[in-house]
Amino acid sequence: MLATVLAMGATALMFALEPPVSMTKGVEYYLVKWKGWPESTNTWEPLRNLRCPQLLQQFSSDKSTYLSLVKKGKANTPKNSSKPLPPAVSEYIVRKAKQRIALQRWQDYLNRRKNHKGMIFVENTVDLEGPPLDFYYINEYRPAPGIILNNEATFGCSCTDCFFEKCCPIEAGVVLAYNKNQQIKVKPGTPIYECNSRCQCGPDCPNRIVQKGTQYSLCIFRTSNGCGWGVKTLVKIKKMSFVMEYVGEVITSEEAERRGQLYDNQGITYLFDLDYESDEFTVDAARYGNVSHFVNHSCDPNLQVFNVFIDNLDTRLPRIALFSTRTIKAGEELTFDYQMKDSIDHSPAKKRIRTECKCGAETCRGYLN
Ligand SMILES: [Zn+2]
Ligand SMILES: [Zn+2]
Ligand SMILES: [Zn+2]
Repeated sequence: MLATVLAMGATALMFALEPPVSMTKGVEYYLVKWKGWPESTNTWEPLRNLRCPQLLQQFSSDKSTYLSLVKKGKANTPKNSSKPLPPAVSEYIVRKAKQRIALQRWQDYLNRRKNHKGMIFVENTVDLEGPPLDFYYINEYRPAPGIILNNEATFGCSCTDCFFEKCCPIEAGVVLAYNKNQQIKVKPGTPIYECNSRCQCGPDCPNRIVQKGTQYSLCIFRTSNGCGWGVKTLVKIKKMSFVMEYVGEVITSEEAERRGQLYDNQGITYLFDLDYESDEFTVDAARYGNVSHFVNHSCDPNLQVFNVFIDNLDTRLPRIALFSTRTIKAGEELTFDYQMKDSIDHSPAKKRIRTECKCGAETCRGYLN
């Protein structure tokens, strides 16, 4: 079996070091999970059979991470490698290895599904949490049965230069939202009307920003302050730049109230009321969403919400875009103010329970909703 696998050039995915007593004294054996083979075919291998420096490196770093985690308690690190690793250590290493594989698969899934330029990375150096179990990546609104998103624009411009001419925003009664550097220049609360599929202008029109999707590589990471998953940018983002859209299932506000009663504290925070001009619809990003699903709340956020109309000009159903409020450094966590979702609350009858905020900002209001 082993000879066959090696001859096929399979990569070893190592799980644990735990030599059984019957093994030759003084030789380290590693439990190997073979790529593409079920766990029932795992084998114990001496070091000389392993040609996977990266996996060996992960193995020893997981081992020392675990040992440093438990060091606070009783520190009996076995230095003698001929002794089996304590079950707790090997169990941790196995779980960490499985988590790493699961998160890699999830990262591959997210990047297969997304239709924008920016890459999505996944990272958990904090705990053993794996990918969310009931989350599906979507790129655009997913209307619930009975809701129709009219995605056919009825009007398009025929400008030769949308920056200077009487373009789509002017027709809608507002000004062009962007400057020449693709930054938003209008105040929050001002709707954005982008050029659409009926416009004569091409893809380089300065009034086509949100429709191009996320341009930045982002990372879904496990926070160390108890806020679950969060999102950080891997590149610098200039101020007033489009970062991502908030998408999810589009449901009626009645359905949102019903779900709000069923959801726990966390589930509730995914309900985003589309209250730009009416309060008929809500976006629920709990099960269906994009990277924005993982963006945490802050009372002092670096992202800000705007209503956007592109092919759908129905003012009851704006698209929601998140723009940077300031320059965001590479590695910084992205946040937005969940309460902005309810800036003008048309339905004071809402009975959603309130969720405590852990953002840590000086101006923290104490609640997420
Ligand atoms: Zn135009
Ligand atoms: Zn146009
Ligand atoms: Zn245009």
